[in-house]
Amino acid sequence: MQKDDQIELTIEDMGIDGAGIGKIDGMAFFVKDAVIGDKVIAKVMKMKKTYGYARLLEITEPSSYRTEPKCPLHRQCGGCQIQPLSYEKQLAFKQQKIVNNLVRIGGFCETKLPIQPIIGAQTTYRYRNKAQFPVGCDKQGQPTAGFYAARTHSIIPVQDCYLGISQNQEVMQKILAWMKQYQVRPYDEKSGTGLVRHVLIRYGFCSKQLMVCIVINGDSIPYEEQLLSLLTQLPEMTSISISINRQRNNVIMGHEVKKLWGKDYIEDTIGGIRFQISPLSFYQVNPVQTELLYQKVMEYANLTGTETVWDLYCGIGTISLFLAQSAKRVYGVEIVPQAIADAKQNAKINGIQNVDFFVGKAEDIVPQFYEQAIRGGGIKQEQDLQKKDGEFSKGLHPHVIVVDPPRKGCEEKLLDTIIQMHPERIVYVSCDSATLARDLKYLCAHGYELTKVQGVDLFCQTVHVETVVLIQRKDT
Ligand code: SAH
Repeated sequence: MQKDDQIELTIEDMGIDGAGIGKIDGMAFFVKDAVIGDKVIAKVMKMKKTYGYARLLEITEPSSYRTEPKCPLHRQCGGCQIQPLSYEKQLAFKQQKIVNNLVRIGGFCETKLPIQPIIGAQTTYRYRNKAQFPVGCDKQGQPTAGFYAARTHSIIPVQDCYLGISQNQEVMQKILAWMKQYQVRPYDEKSGTGLVRHVLIRYGFCSKQLMVCIVINGDSIPYEEQLLSLLTQLPEMTSISISINRQRNNVIMGHEVKKLWGKDYIEDTIGGIRFQISPLSFYQVNPVQTELLYQKVMEYANLTGTETVWDLYCGIGTISLFLAQSAKRVYGVEIVPQAIADAKQNAKINGIQNVDFFVGKAEDIVPQFYEQAIRGGGIKQEQDLQKKDGEFSKGLHPHVIVVDPPRKGCEEKLLDTIIQMHPERIVYVSCDSATLARDLKYLCAHGYELTKVQGVDLFCQTVHVETVVLIQRKDT
């Protein structure tokens, strides 16, 4: 077998990125866009020792798990890797992905995994409250916006996406019309010239408030009034801003945001708690499923009102404020200063007083807190914490620590401090079950045991899955 050969395959499995896997003469082939159960003809593109990659040419017998994908661009766009798969099978795929990572990376025993069936969603399209459209030029040199084609930086022009809200399209049409009329140039990655890089749109599903933040390679935009008069035609418009990003890298948002119109933030409500969200702050993209996720976190934290809790990687304080309602005191830590500003404000608007928030890396702040606390000091940002009826020393040995890190997981330095703080329970919320498994392996080698595992589908049509896990100290 060699490159360009045509092969017939039955797809028996799917890889972590959603590609179908079929075998021929002991060789596994990854075939993008083929799903479990398909019989296909594919063309060999690349051969490695024991596996290869092949391009789907024809589906000779479609799988019974296939369903009609809504989006005509799902094959070109990198966003929805498993849209043609029935939702039931998508959930099975995600459940298996969690299990495989816990077994292969975490070293846990498959038959003893305390895992519950994944929590699926009722709404599997138009669930996202956030969209980030890259802006560029089309072949005719006209401004266009859309999504990056899978594994590339070329833009597929699409202003509507079935995962996002329908208002995205109206916003993008107005911005592109303004760019065309006033010859505002899109940013060109190759030369580093041009102005408009990305458009961030966020929507409060409960509040019906709409936010637009335009990421630019400059300090200001020309014809600002004209743009504002177009965007403010949308009745839900609440906040319009620019984010300044002159860096020549592929980070989307700049560090600085300037408000052009309306409020600095939008609001939304989850589980009866109101949150204000500013452009640079993280907020879960699927608010309906997020509520179910946070309920699981609460269930696993099992609070009675007397506990001290840390919420690491707390963003705008969403989980912290949920926890604070049933805990004695909660400490939140987050790296993005604007998110902590939101978090403090969120505590205030909800009348929640038993929380303290710290800005910084969790792997710096928590060890620093711990070191200085055992030496009887305070930490820089809240020197007066010690005065709060000995609360400070309780933070040293909390009952529960919640972590919700980004995809790369927690640094070992942080895990070491967590182990020293010896909380009874650790609730780990993860958007990447591979790094989750790695970190659990470490914690479970240091006195903890895996008690509960629950997948929650926050990202329907994609290969991504959220996992929440409870681990408990063995000696409790
Ligand atoms: N728990 C929050 C946010 C989770 S997303 C929620 O449910 O909304 C992860 C968060 O970790 C983001 O807000 C990100 O800005 C933050 N973050 C990333 N690296 C960090 C680090 N090293 N230390 C602390 N926070 C970090």
